[in-house]
Amino acid sequence: MNQTLLRGRTLTFLRWPDTTEDHAAYRYEEDGGLLLEGGRIAAAGAYAEVAAKAGDGAQRIDHRPHLLLPGFIDAHVHFPQMQVIASYGTELLDWLNKYTFPEETKFSNAQHGRRIARLFLDEMVRQGTTTVSAYCSVHKQSAEAFFAESHERNMLNIAGKVMMDRNAPEQLRDTPESSFDDSKALIEEWHGKGRQLYAVTPRFAITSSPEQLEMAGALMRAFPDLHMQTHLSENHAEIAFTGELYPWARDYTDVYEHYGLLGPRALFGHCIHLSDRETDALSQSGSVAVFCPTSNLFLGSGLFDYQRYRRRSKPLRIATATDVGGGTNYSMLRTMDEGYKVIALNGEKLNPFASFWQLTRGNAEALSIADRVGTLETGTDADIVVLNPSATPAMRLRMETAGTLAEELFLLQTLGDDRAVVETYVAGRPAKSALPAVAT
Ligand SMILES: [Zn+2]
Repeated sequence: MNQTLLRGRTLTFLRWPDTTEDHAAYRYEEDGGLLLEGGRIAAAGAYAEVAAKAGDGAQRIDHRPHLLLPGFIDAHVHFPQMQVIASYGTELLDWLNKYTFPEETKFSNAQHGRRIARLFLDEMVRQGTTTVSAYCSVHKQSAEAFFAESHERNMLNIAGKVMMDRNAPEQLRDTPESSFDDSKALIEEWHGKGRQLYAVTPRFAITSSPEQLEMAGALMRAFPDLHMQTHLSENHAEIAFTGELYPWARDYTDVYEHYGLLGPRALFGHCIHLSDRETDALSQSGSVAVFCPTSNLFLGSGLFDYQRYRRRSKPLRIATATDVGGGTNYSMLRTMDEGYKVIALNGEKLNPFASFWQLTRGNAEALSIADRVGTLETGTDADIVVLNPSATPAMRLRMETAGTLAEELFLLQTLGDDRAVVETYVAGRPAKSALPAVAT
């Protein structure tokens, strides 16, 4: 079997790092090696030991002095919004009506969907992101386009067709029955095919009727190993409108709770303005709150209280994400830089090791896929990002005074973007260097 032997400074996390001095939380090899075989990591550790296990025919790639980490994971992103990102002047509900909904109508055209899916996954690879949990549009063909493109690249991605049957233009509305049937057909075709995973995806309570949320619950009961993704408590006007649409609900979270949509594979985007009761309900069900800092700042939605959610007696499981096109950058480095600032505005700090834990193992654990991706453990999938902390003149200059690994990571997060990503391996295959020079 074909083997690839990578050499460089390897970094992988074992658990949440409490401080910059918490060296037991990670494994770092100054001269590290990774032996890739059949899309997986066959051996990892000190280079000399790993090299001894490689066959004579192994392809050897020397990435020194760069850092090798598990590929980044983006837990919430809308692939049809590549031409919505950077749209001026609105908060959530107006932003949806003015920019997002008109754009998403274009995805009734399968060719358009396939083109954007291709360019989207190109962009993920360029940014070092190897797994996303993606919203498609309401159209079944948009999810088909995404999965076909993802499968062809052998990427581990989670995605789902959006379910929405009200409070949206007619071309973007399905029905409770058609959303169930289309989702079911997509699940049967794509879930577990290669590395593809399906997420039941009601956009949010405002755009789904009670009958449709009932159908989403029925899908989760019929296919209990699926993810479920939706939005929750992003914006005050959204929360108030949800209260009008579901007058019997104790609060916003109760709407999803009522239809059986909470659980360990449920991903709730934003979760900014939760009450204690809602936070308890999410915690007790093992649900995941997805922190989308660039989006929350851009749309003026609010400040996600990361450290309070993490430290409370009933803590929340947390993932981080770009939320493009509400989010303003595809890079998970840029995302964590903005996340650091949101956390700072809440009077807290996020240490650089915790930040890189979150991007990799933390997000993998939140998505319940840490047995497959998010670490450099032997036997896991070989999704790897290669980072150069001296990628630009300004970074190189600042690196002259960075004395520790923690300082280097913080520099990467604060100043880095796609230029710091030297290579991205997807299932053991170099993918960034294989991208076309000019995308069309
Ligand atoms: Zn979103």
